[in-house]
Amino acid sequence: MPSLSVLPPKCLQKPLLVPHRHMFGPGPSNVPSRILEAGANPVIGHMHPEIFEYMFQTQNNMTLAVSGTGHTAMECAIFNTVESGDSVLTAVNGIWGERAAEMAERIGARVNTIVAPPGGFFTNAEIEQALSKYRPVLFFLAHGESSTGVLHPLDGIGQLCQRYNCLFLVDAVASIGGAPLHMDQQGIDILYTGSQKVLNAPPGTAPISFSERACQKIFSRKSKPVSFFLDLNWLANYWGCDGKPSRVYHHTGPVTAFFSLRESLAVLVEEGLENSWERHQKVAEYFHTGLESMGLKLFVKEKKARLPTVTTIVAPHGYDWKEITSYIMKTHNIEISGGLGPSVGLVLRVGLMGCNSSKANVDMVLGALKDALKHCHKSKV
Ligand code: PMP
Repeated sequence: MPSLSVLPPKCLQKPLLVPHRHMFGPGPSNVPSRILEAGANPVIGHMHPEIFEYMFQTQNNMTLAVSGTGHTAMECAIFNTVESGDSVLTAVNGIWGERAAEMAERIGARVNTIVAPPGGFFTNAEIEQALSKYRPVLFFLAHGESSTGVLHPLDGIGQLCQRYNCLFLVDAVASIGGAPLHMDQQGIDILYTGSQKVLNAPPGTAPISFSERACQKIFSRKSKPVSFFLDLNWLANYWGCDGKPSRVYHHTGPVTAFFSLRESLAVLVEEGLENSWERHQKVAEYFHTGLESMGLKLFVKEKKARLPTVTTIVAPHGYDWKEITSYIMKTHNIEISGGLGPSVGLVLRVGLMGCNSSKANVDMVLGALKDALKHCHKSKV
């Protein structure tokens, strides 16, 4: 009788083979070799938090990266600022507002939502009305709503939140580096992003920043945050943001993933933030014109609310969207995706982010879509 009841899997006795694909879905995007190689450096100590400030356009001292994906940063923001019984407001125009609401509910907050149809967004008057009605301690808004393809306007909302003594939390996972955002000028109190979209780094690290106002609320809370791992007191010390001379062990960070993240920020600095915003906008407009001239429709009607990083296309009438995405993967080696949450069945989503945002890639996707519409089954009804 063998002493081990579970034998080594055969697949681990073969080398790992990862195919090359064009990653044009809503994320992750392709990681250029320069950024992959940065992650192959030896595993050693710590990083400097100020590397994130440029991307966020903030002077906040409390700017760091959490060890985990975008969801980890979302929970970090919510778990640290909200206590059981607090009122929270989330803007729901896609899946991200729904998820933020669920996270706040899980820690016992009183959660209210304002809801816009998928593809829509909110006016400042609608937001103000809800702030005055619900008096939340935290208002969540997705800047880049990747499930619906909406780029939400931000101007004036931070000032409204200040007037109502509410913290303004913005999800910029799908927009940072691809669309203009000025954390301090726009009065954003907590801002987070992910590594695997415009930054083109591997998934698994998530930059986040907290304003002075946010820190005051967090550091004067009555109860400890529900998560030890995401407690900002600990994370601030881990990242050296708390001014203390020594760092106490909290958790073992994914050091090589931070190296890749650092390199991706170096790439962004080299191009310049404004140039990157402009490139994404130009490429998106070129893409949108190409789609419309093929007879396809954009899901977000208002031009200025179209997210330049993730485009939502109305699912072509008479086709099964799954057949289209599978055909494009099989025939063209390109990953695009269907909808998510409230947009399932309604859209196709194409992400062209960071190094993937180029006219040549637009031409490649347009060609693949044309081919798919020719070869996939179309019902007559
Ligand atoms: N927010 C938005 C807007 C996103 O697009 C995503 C990723 N699709 C997330 C949050 C969550 O990020 P992750 O998958 O890295 O946890």
